[in-house]
Amino acid sequence: MYAGYLFDLDGTLWRGNTLIPGAVETVRRLQDAGARIGYVTNNSTQSTEQFVAKLTGMGFPTEGCAVKSTASGAAAYVAAMGIGSAYVVGESGLHASIKAVAELTDESPEAVVVGLCFSFDYEKLKVAMRAIRGGASFIATNRDVTYPMEGGNLIPGAGSVVAAVAAAAEREPIVIGKPEPTMILQCLDELGLRAEETLVVGDRLDTDIESGQRAGCPVHLVLSGVETVAPLGMAHSLDVNGLA
Ligand SMILES: [Mg+2]
Repeated sequence: MYAGYLFDLDGTLWRGNTLIPGAVETVRRLQDAGARIGYVTNNSTQSTEQFVAKLTGMGFPTEGCAVKSTASGAAAYVAAMGIGSAYVVGESGLHASIKAVAELTDESPEAVVVGLCFSFDYEKLKVAMRAIRGGASFIATNRDVTYPMEGGNLIPGAGSVVAAVAAAAEREPIVIGKPEPTMILQCLDELGLRAEETLVVGDRLDTDIESGQRAGCPVHLVLSGVETVAPLGMAHSLDVNGLA
């Protein structure tokens, strides 16, 4: 038992819109036992407010919990850097989050913000490429190349879109989400937890697990999403029901 638990969402608590059986009960049991709970997702398709609504709707506790998504994280970065205008390649949650802090434009934007975009096409790639080559900051929500759906199926993730823009622009982005430890550290701060007493739980080694390790937290890999094998010696279980 840890003082705090920070859960990834996609592939850890649900796949697509389908709950992992027992996930709600597990999180509630930990909270009832006195643990503080945080949710940290690289998913930029929805804002933090939309994720709070989805979590609540599915039955997860959100009261007194920390919730971080990369859409809100990217908006916080844009605001902190004083960026006044941006071209957004992403879904409605990212558009709404960035629009709250900067003007959205495809004419000489100060930044290009790229996340998972289901309508990504050559035109968007061209606008993003020209803006970045013209000097705009290049901000990526995350670099997960795949995204876990129902039935173990994968679809291209934000990282695949980011890779296309990076190739065309010949520039590497500033990355907001995991494996950067930023969102994990924000959760620890918000929940009043120390790194060593907080377990980071996720389904990807290159994002969830690495961000937890970089933040100094113990980590736990679940095999219900992207990874199917755990490295030797790493705490893991088939899904969140296997948490001690
Ligand atoms: Mg995941």
